[in-house]
Amino acid sequence: MTRADSSQRRVLHCDCGEIREVSVALPVLACVRCGARMHDPRPPEPPIPSKLIVTGASVLIELLCAIGFTLAALWMLRTGDTGPRAIAIAAICAVGILTGAMAYRGSVGGLIVGGAIAAAIAFACAIDTSAVAELFVRARVAPLLVRDPQKLATITAGVALIALGVCIAALPQARRFAAWQRMRIERAFALTS
Ligand SMILES: [Zn+2]
Repeated sequence: MTRADSSQRRVLHCDCGEIREVSVALPVLACVRCGARMHDPRPPEPPIPSKLIVTGASVLIELLCAIGFTLAALWMLRTGDTGPRAIAIAAICAVGILTGAMAYRGSVGGLIVGGAIAAAIAFACAIDTSAVAELFVRARVAPLLVRDPQKLATITAGVALIALGVCIAALPQARRFAAWQRMRIERAFALTS
């Protein structure tokens, strides 16, 4: 080990704002003002990346799945039918509500799963419009909301497609946000070690 040259100086900072220039030979130094351990100057904190599209995508997933879950629950409650179809719809929508919440926190995985559920809903509405229309009828919301349950199924397919598109569009933003969060955690870890 070489002895540090005492003529070399370094600037130390404290979180309270205190700045001192000391010899590099000096080990850990306590702040004269607050007593906390002083440290090398930290690079400026990068700004929080925007989460606007991610928020929009998660709100759409939540909305879509909350409606699906309510429909399935109404279907089961009002008809007493607890068959595999009603349970499957309720379960998928419940997962969708959870992944929507994960996506809201910036989870890339939450966006992918949420997008996949939106795609499945759009696919089901487009392929089997009459079955989805039947769901609205069985949940007994069709005559109340709209005369034409087929049209309601088509609208649902459209909303699901929009949700899927927004989920895909939000992926780069979610990745940037995840990288920023990781960087903050690493930073906090580096400061405490
Ligand atoms: Zn201090």
